[in-house]
Amino acid sequence: MIRVGMSTSCVYPLGVEEGFRHASLAGFDGVEVMVTRDEVTQSPDTLLALSEKYGMPILSIHAPVLLLTHFVWGRDPQIKLEKSAELAKSVGATAVVVHPPFRWQAGYAENFLRIVRETTETFGVEIAVENMFPWKVKNTSVKAYSPGWDPVVMDCDAVTLDFSHAALSGRDSLEMAEALGSRLRHVHLCDGSASLDEGRIFDEHLLPGYGSQPVREVLQFLHSSGWSGNIVAEVNTRKAKTEDDRLELLRETAAFGRGEEWPNADAADGTKHTQKKRSQKKAARAASKLQVDSGVKNHGTKAEGDDTSARSEEKREKRRAKAVKKAHKQARRAGQSA
Ligand SMILES: [Zn+2]
Repeated sequence: MIRVGMSTSCVYPLGVEEGFRHASLAGFDGVEVMVTRDEVTQSPDTLLALSEKYGMPILSIHAPVLLLTHFVWGRDPQIKLEKSAELAKSVGATAVVVHPPFRWQAGYAENFLRIVRETTETFGVEIAVENMFPWKVKNTSVKAYSPGWDPVVMDCDAVTLDFSHAALSGRDSLEMAEALGSRLRHVHLCDGSASLDEGRIFDEHLLPGYGSQPVREVLQFLHSSGWSGNIVAEVNTRKAKTEDDRLELLRETAAFGRGEEWPNADAADGTKHTQKKRSQKKAARAASKLQVDSGVKNHGTKAEGDDTSARSEEKREKRRAKAVKKAHKQARRAGQSA
């Protein structure tokens, strides 16, 4: 059975109770709790009380995102992940969403896949590694994540597919879903257009159907292949001026997740039109990717493994880490979420 849930981050900057309330009013099947500095998001008792009050089961827990929640559950990322799994277990959630480590998280990054496996076994909940994207700062690639941003090529059993991140990384989410097969266990329902503004990246989390990703096709693929997992809305509703406006956006997203309503009316036009549209979008994505890559010189992804000087690599690494932190700060200031 596929359940369509809503992340509490959809109502940001409103709090977690507003997340439960909006999810219930918009007709979702349940909630994904994004663990933040707000202690309510870390307390099983309070979360279960909210779940009961609004009749919204907790489907999944999103482990704290580094840099935004630096001191939540201490500073050890392994403990943060274990605490997330423990929380999931105590509130009856079946999955934990986790981002791949940043490269400078020494000790955690190297052991990440083992830690994911062991935590899964210890707590009996799925740890679904989310696809991220290559960071680009001033048109230069920075290798921010380790072992990488793409769980398709990682040795992990469960993956979260996020459409906004797929768009940013210039990937086709349908191809990713097909490549993942049974390892695809969790979906973040949203969209992205891979838009670039002066070489800066924006993690858009658009409503599904409003970007360039084949969201409908992926959902159809999942529905038709007997997939069972959770599709959780992770959309940006900050432009909504009133509660009604926000609920309208969330209701549309819930309906899209269920396949009840497709905002791009091309569903009725048949596959041919859809495919044509997809290839147009793909071409647009390739063009915008080319634009970025043309600005990349020696620091591009390909050059990363070729360097022989450990010391200069280390120096570059520090610069990259600094650049990524800066980009994170900029993204935060621009009001972006993970
Ligand atoms: Zn996500």
